Amino acid sequence: MRIVLLGAPGSGKGTQSQLLVKAYGIPQISTGDLLREAVSQGSALGLRAKAAMDSGKLVDDATVLGMIRERLGRPDAAKGFILDGFPRNIVQAEALQNMLGDLGTPLEAVVLMNLDLTILFKRLTGRRICQDCGKVFNIYTSPPPEGKHNLIQRPDDKEEVIGKRLEVYEAQTKPLIKYYEAAGLLHSVDADADVDTVFKSIEQAALPTRRA
Ligand code: AMP
Repeated sequence: MRIVLLGAPGSGKGTQSQLLVKAYGIPQISTGDLLREAVSQGSALGLRAKAAMDSGKLVDDATVLGMIRERLGRPDAAKGFILDGFPRNIVQAEALQNMLGDLGTPLEAVVLMNLDLTILFKRLTGRRICQDCGKVFNIYTSPPPEGKHNLIQRPDDKEEVIGKRLEVYEAQTKPLIKYYEAAGLLHSVDADADVDTVFKSIEQAALPTRRA
């Protein structure tokens, strides 16, 4: 299975990717996670990316595409992948199409996670991540059990950066909806439901015969 999860920040791409990883045994490739890892390691790439990330802008295409090319070339991606947070604009989508075309392994489906802007805002401002286990919580909708987790807020989930991220989504990422519609790959799901319901919608929309 080669699939893209498309949607605004906070639409649940990461959560759903993790469920897909468990159910289908293929890797999640999240450019946001790869970039955060590079930042925390203090690598040259991380240093280059940090300013754009902290201000809610996109990291430059050359950096992201280099990272993706390397990641898709690793052995575990040969059996399929879930792209989460990539592509983020038309240039990246075209580069991906060329990369996969060269490999003879084109995308099979793009799932659009549909969610209202006001709900996105609440999800992002409430999101907290456990520093120890990586689990994602929301202080409004799914608070953690008391005292069990060491919660942090992503720097770009601060209110002043969220507006910029949503603006960037509208301007640069949303055009991908038409792009993938035209390619006959787009499946849209209602992402304003509980995690399991959304997961079932994704399976029904894009993976009807895939589960082992
Ligand atoms: P995410 O975790 O997907 O919300 O990404 C966090 C941040 O990483 C974004 O706000 C961007 O600054 C950067 N980023 C993630 N994926 C991409 C991408 N495909 N292209 C450019 N920047 C990205």
